[in-house]
Amino acid sequence: MKFFIQKSGCGCSSVPQADSCGCSATLEATDSCPNCSKYGIAVSDVTIKSQLKKEYLETLADRSGFSFCKNPQCDTVYYKDKLSFSQSCVRNKVTVKNDDPQTPLCYCQKLLKKDFFEMIEAGEENIPAKLREIIARGKSFCEKSNPKGVCCTDDVKAFVESHGLTWGECRPAARTNKLFSVTAKPFYAYRSKI
Ligand SMILES: [Zn+2]
Repeated sequence: MKFFIQKSGCGCSSVPQADSCGCSATLEATDSCPNCSKYGIAVSDVTIKSQLKKEYLETLADRSGFSFCKNPQCDTVYYKDKLSFSQSCVRNKVTVKNDDPQTPLCYCQKLLKKDFFEMIEAGEENIPAKLREIIARGKSFCEKSNPKGVCCTDDVKAFVESHGLTWGECRPAARTNKLFSVTAKPFYAYRSKI
């Protein structure tokens, strides 16, 4: 199976599409959402298998070729041609579509919107830096964990900025080889079982 390891950037080790930073690594969908007509991003069969609830997954003969609708106002999460799956068909709450405090910001590290609000209430400083540190901590498996199939950083950045905080620069050089060597081994082991 072909996949890419993100060697630099946001600290995430499993962004499927190589990108200069990794934080915006997405592959534009070639077709638009049947619900809102906006173009989403392509997701892999691995993401579909991990995210769709069992009863909907069982209806699919072919899990490939799906796209993720990133429009916050649209209830559709995945689509392919005329076929679409709404939020109720997906195991995880979707960051850009769900205001519930229990909605994850970083799926791999189980960082919730609730955690962000608690930081605000506690009057913590440098919250964006703390969030970045949490996201980069431990191993990442975004292709399976995140309904979008890629690193959460773009969406966390947009969420933080929508609450009046400045996310700051995402600097690829800030991530060290040490972090990569820690995350890479479990990731390879993980993927080899698929
Ligand atoms: Zn849509």
